[in-house]
Amino acid sequence: MKLELSRRDLFLAGGGAVAGIALSPVPWKLLDDLSIWTQQPPTPTPRPAGPLAFRFTSCALCPASCGLKARCFGAQPVGFAAVPGHPASDGGLCPLGLTAHHLAKHPLRATHPERVSGGKRERIDRADAVAALSAALAACGREKRTFAVVDGRPGRTLSRTYRALAAATGGLYVTPPAAGAALSLETLAKRFDGGALALGVDFSKARRVVSFGTPVLTDAGTPGLLARLRAESRRRPAAERIEVIQVEATRGRSAALADRYIPIAPGTEAAFALGLAHVLLDEKLADAAFLDARTTGLADFAALAARFAPALVEQKTGAQAGVVTALARDLATNRPALVLGGDPAAAPLSGEAEAAIAALNLLLGAPFAALPVRGDAPRATDGDAKLAAATSLDALPDGSVGLLLLDATVAEGLVPWARLERALASDALVVSLSPFRAGLGEKATLLIPGPAPLEESIELDGPVDAPFATFAFAPALLSPPKNLVPGEEILREATAAAGLSLPAPAPGSRADALLAARRGRLFDPAAATFVATGDVADTNALGELFARGACWVDDATPEPKGRFALLRDGEAARLLEAALGAPSSVPALPASLPREALSAAPPSLLLTKLTRETALFTPPAAAATTAARA
Ligand code: SF4
Repeated sequence: MKLELSRRDLFLAGGGAVAGIALSPVPWKLLDDLSIWTQQPPTPTPRPAGPLAFRFTSCALCPASCGLKARCFGAQPVGFAAVPGHPASDGGLCPLGLTAHHLAKHPLRATHPERVSGGKRERIDRADAVAALSAALAACGREKRTFAVVDGRPGRTLSRTYRALAAATGGLYVTPPAAGAALSLETLAKRFDGGALALGVDFSKARRVVSFGTPVLTDAGTPGLLARLRAESRRRPAAERIEVIQVEATRGRSAALADRYIPIAPGTEAAFALGLAHVLLDEKLADAAFLDARTTGLADFAALAARFAPALVEQKTGAQAGVVTALARDLATNRPALVLGGDPAAAPLSGEAEAAIAALNLLLGAPFAALPVRGDAPRATDGDAKLAAATSLDALPDGSVGLLLLDATVAEGLVPWARLERALASDALVVSLSPFRAGLGEKATLLIPGPAPLEESIELDGPVDAPFATFAFAPALLSPPKNLVPGEEILREATAAAGLSLPAPAPGSRADALLAARRGRLFDPAAATFVATGDVADTNALGELFARGACWVDDATPEPKGRFALLRDGEAARLLEAALGAPSSVPALPASLPREALSAAPPSLLLTKLTRETALFTPPAAAATTAARA
């Protein structure tokens, strides 16, 4: 049908839009607040001065590491735009990144060490901070109390310092658990018998994306990438279109934007995935060539899936049997198809649900196509330095930690305070290097603030679920406050005072490792061109490229030899029990901005207002599931 619009229609539509904006409280409230902010310091956007210029860097607020094009007056950035073609973000940006320059003036920003004593927070000087930290470090060695450091961005030069400190004190170096799509990829990779394997997600190679909770259209991967690919695919013939199917108990933003939303009872993801597997195997729709060449344990898995006929799945999950059958047939017809689990906004899926999702990806032949194998950005070898290995939160026994050090990159959405608090001894010292009295920084009994976002040059490995590894030394755009002492400096002084030694930082070693590997290409955002790493003359030339906001991207990694286990030892019984279990309760989730759960920094004041005082970001609603029962 042809859509005919007259000038009158356009006039009426335009008038309606203007009236809608005028009648909405949002613009008036924002105008009111902005006028107050600009009259009373601290202002979120300082008045600009100097000539207009554009500078490039990357956003460090969450692991997506998006490229930023900063519009600056003099040295002051006043706004950001995405960088088209950027290897990490491909022209994507989220609301948090758009206001990253407001954070240096955030009211919860701290610029001096602070201590909480007797329930009162007080500012202390550098010497007191060093003394408190060194006493706690010395006590760990003397009184056999556990030292634990949590690092949100492992692999940086600073991470090496943390690992050395953990080794020197006999403590633990803890990294956050995989979340969202990364958790599904990790589960799948661990079933591979051909050596260590890392997989990424290549949405451009998929025609169907099923998500069991990962907000693939909002918070996951590169911002907006899947939504853009899907929109572009709609201009192609129906057989080439990308569709997104969200299967979960809460109707969040990603579910609202999906092509299909299938509500299921909470905690019944394993039953639903096994129901899809049942139809794929029963109707001989699975990828037989992939299963034959690349998997083991098909007979045992088929016997398990045979128990999950769509009628039983309807009883367990609340999703109609016809919906289960139709989805399985649709996935088989429209391959490449991939399935992702996890949910950074709510509790992560159980190991059993992730195992069923991994098996589903194998039935659909997703590994090495829509789930390609990927390498890591090169890094310097550890040499002779004594470094603690990374461990998980589960390694922290309850009530055992006497000194907990939280790096500024630890997001509370990934490392919940309730879990950390359980691990603390009654008189433990909690030290945070966050520049904010917010999130985990607010829980610290000793806050040693470091530079705010954009105030320091930072090493950024891209997200672990991207199809290619990326890396940037994101240049700083702002100057830190004059008297700010970097947390690492205080940490080194305290370590020396406690009689412990740390290996000296090795500047340039990461750049040297990149050049030595002669892999990949460097994207120059100003020129929007790539240069092969092998063509970069030396470390200085590489440093200049990174200072201009360049981003390194890896080459494609060849497929390794080996097979994936559809089931591991003893897994069939656990999976059966979990899939037949009763639904769980679904937590009530507050309204939040995209990426907020993954970011260690608080959102800017402007964004907080949009989330809390308007209906622009509504909380996810629990799905109305009908037939689910134990
Ligand atoms: S917060 Fe994350 S997604 Fe948003 S712009 Fe920054 S890096 Fe990108």
